[in-house]
Amino acid sequence: NSQYDVLIIGAGPIGLACAIEAQNVGLSYLIVEKGPLVNSLYHYPVFMTFFSTSQKLEIGGVPFVSISNKPNRNEALEYYRRVAEKFQLNINLFEEVRQVTQLAANNFEIETDKTTYHAKNVIIATGFYDVPVMMNVLGEKLPKVRHYYQDPHLYAFSKVLVIGANNSAIDVALETYRKGADVTLVIRGSEIGSYVKYWVRPDIENRIKEGEIKAYFNSEVISIAEDTVQIKTPEGELAIENDFVLAMTGYQPNFALLKKLRVELDENHSPKHNPETMETNKKGLYLAGVVCGGMDTHKWFIENSRVHAEQIVKHIVES
Ligand code: FAD
Repeated sequence: NSQYDVLIIGAGPIGLACAIEAQNVGLSYLIVEKGPLVNSLYHYPVFMTFFSTSQKLEIGGVPFVSISNKPNRNEALEYYRRVAEKFQLNINLFEEVRQVTQLAANNFEIETDKTTYHAKNVIIATGFYDVPVMMNVLGEKLPKVRHYYQDPHLYAFSKVLVIGANNSAIDVALETYRKGADVTLVIRGSEIGSYVKYWVRPDIENRIKEGEIKAYFNSEVISIAEDTVQIKTPEGELAIENDFVLAMTGYQPNFALLKKLRVELDENHSPKHNPETMETNKKGLYLAGVVCGGMDTHKWFIENSRVHAEQIVKHIVES
């Protein structure tokens, strides 16, 4: 089987940035991606707008041209696809990495659902969008309960319960409300999340004030049944009629995979790494992109983690 200088797990924006950097210095590499190109972005809400300006989403020095300063999902898919095309990146799509074993110094064996590869170095750029944070309540497995949201049309004229207080939840509540859904928000804390986009905040606050979107603060869902949802509020328990539950309770890195790859986690569940080189506890095994933050998914973005590519490749070339 082929031996690469670098094998990159994940074709998200940062995996692509790593590949471009490796290619620029003449290293042989392969990206293995379990879904389509930029799989996380592909699964974002279809009408989603980035909170970053297009310039801050750029990789490989390729300008990202968008009409508004903040691009939408479709523009980002087009951009990253054109970047992959321009650099003719070496990517295997729809192939999942199952295990990485270090056979010797600078010799990793990478098993996928299709074959086995060998590489001197491995970069884990697997993001955090694969594993939703579960509520662990009765009824969470019902088909009407969703942890991913795509298109508001599905929810038109239905009774929708949205759980969460941050960007995903607030976007979902507003979008489905505007397509005729009867929306109730359940928020664990006492206010709308601090990360909510500053231009969206007044909209949600006013919809709540006007009673157009119902909101229960300091409240949580206790159980979900076919036609109702039971919630606990400061005023006591309440049963709400319900057709769909959109649990926008956040996402987390695939810790099971990280453990399998024997990446050590710190006390906050962040995968340990050297912040200068991005190398983990294992020589030649690197982390890149938003996976680095562990449970803290608000720490890394495209704009501040695209530099990981240069840091890693520089370290590989120098060692
Ligand atoms: P990802 O894009 O998540 O890429 C990881 C890739 O690894 C995926 O394609 C996945 O399929 C693949 N993968 C995982 N496991 C395996 C495996 N075992 N084998 C093979 N492939 C695997 N960030 C910003 O900077 N600006 C924004 O405006 C912004 N908006 C966001 C909006 C939403 C709704 C969400 C959820 C996130 C947003 N983010 C934003 C954060 C954003 O997800 C990340 O910044 C970006 O996707 C990170 O890129 P990444 O390459 O690190 O990870």
